[in-house]
Amino acid sequence: NSDPNPAHIVLIPFMAQGHMIPMVDVARLLASSGALVTFITTPVNAARIRPIIDRIENSHLPVRFVQLPFPSADAGLPAGCENVDLISSPDLFKPFMEALSLFGEQVKLYLTATNQTVVPAGCIIFDSMNSWVGAVAESLGIPHIIFYGPSCFYILCSHLLKKHQVLESIDDDYELFKVPELPEPVEVMKAQVMRWMDRPGWEKVSKEFYKTEKSACGIVMNTFEELEKSGLDKFRKEIGKKVWPIGPLSLANKDLDSKAMRGKASSIDTGLLLSWLDSKAPNSVMFVSFGSLSRNPISLLVQIGQGLESASSSQLSFIWVVKEADKSEEVENWLSKFEERTKGRGMVIRGWAPQAMILGHMAVGGFMTHCGWNSTLEAIAAGVVMATWPRFGDQFVNERLVVDVLRIGVAVGAKVPIFFVDDMSEEALVKGEEVRKVVEKVMTGGEEGEERRKRAKEFAKKARKAMEEGGSSFENLKRIIQFAKGENKHLE
Ligand code: UDP
Repeated sequence: NSDPNPAHIVLIPFMAQGHMIPMVDVARLLASSGALVTFITTPVNAARIRPIIDRIENSHLPVRFVQLPFPSADAGLPAGCENVDLISSPDLFKPFMEALSLFGEQVKLYLTATNQTVVPAGCIIFDSMNSWVGAVAESLGIPHIIFYGPSCFYILCSHLLKKHQVLESIDDDYELFKVPELPEPVEVMKAQVMRWMDRPGWEKVSKEFYKTEKSACGIVMNTFEELEKSGLDKFRKEIGKKVWPIGPLSLANKDLDSKAMRGKASSIDTGLLLSWLDSKAPNSVMFVSFGSLSRNPISLLVQIGQGLESASSSQLSFIWVVKEADKSEEVENWLSKFEERTKGRGMVIRGWAPQAMILGHMAVGGFMTHCGWNSTLEAIAAGVVMATWPRFGDQFVNERLVVDVLRIGVAVGAKVPIFFVDDMSEEALVKGEEVRKVVEKVMTGGEEGEERRKRAKEFAKKARKAMEEGGSSFENLKRIIQFAKGENKHLE
């Protein structure tokens, strides 16, 4: 590191794959811009992002990955339950959050010790789900900055709904209503936007969340100014703090390795995958994947398969990711026959796909997505039009942003949230016929489709520009480093 007085920034991600992945990118970006970075996680979580850790370590970037023990047993959790997607039942979410809070003690001890031996931490950037960091940082006198993983649009919606106590006044979970004060008005349903921490039993967590938000010095977001300008301006006004968008973070990978995967190792040979994609015409492949957490029971898999198979375009091909957790003998029997029937134009990846790489290939013209924010932003960064199929959390609001505000997606038409497979009801089941229609609309949508694709490509250009030297996200990253060095006290 050539800087004689480098900033030291501590990163504390939330333990869920979709939260770890962008935080690793933050680590890489900060370290590439001259900061020393300490990334705090647990042994199980470190093992799950091992390919990325190896890549960063091999490139000699100054990132220290620290693994502290996770107090599972103290919170009544089975051993190894160190990540949200390792929790087998919704009942374990509460003990998981308690264990996280206890984990704060380990972090405090660690930071107290290291602050005396290495460059003291200039600031802590932590995932908003880790509210406990607020108290730890204050007790150590370290400034703290919140990292919000979702879109600004979603965070703004949540704040406005709370400010106006909208949900309290609505009885019907499936009645459409407008979110007040949004610069670009959209309609949602209570069932789609009710957060876990707004439910009975989570009052303490909710209180701590807002307390930490108040004490934070600023907010970092994985988005970019040119994508969410009006939402960001409105949110800045609402919160009265600096808000620095530094994304799309997936673009942090481009210099290191064009085949960069996010999260885990790929379940498929990337060479084979690339030559398959190379054999397809531009914009002819639909990529179908629903992130790391949401599940698809066989009833849903069959509908997706029918939709893909019956989509009538001689040119249309697809790649479909079926997660490990969704596999069973029944699924495998059905899937192997499906593969036989769609040979040549369809590819099924069982397990983990190198998603960012697939989306970046010119053959890919559509992405059927659950609208997790990382996936959404990866599609935006690649200029790919989306077929939106939200499941829970921020995803329904992200869908509105993509379909109604940015107009770069077509909704599959899901209304009912699905958290766990057990929630699968008749109403939540989207039919194959709907899937077919949306696939056709996204891939061959006539003039309207062309316009959508053009808009998507324009956002991709703006995304790349934001991350380049002099771009809006690039400059914000520099400001954060200056802040951590104590040179930007007024938070420009
Ligand atoms: N992802 C991937 N391969 C897969 C599934 C997911 O690389 O097979 C990555 C995806 O690119 C994204 C992240 O995992 O970066 C998923 O995050 P997102 O916010 O979209 O959804 P979540 O998993 O949190 O629901």
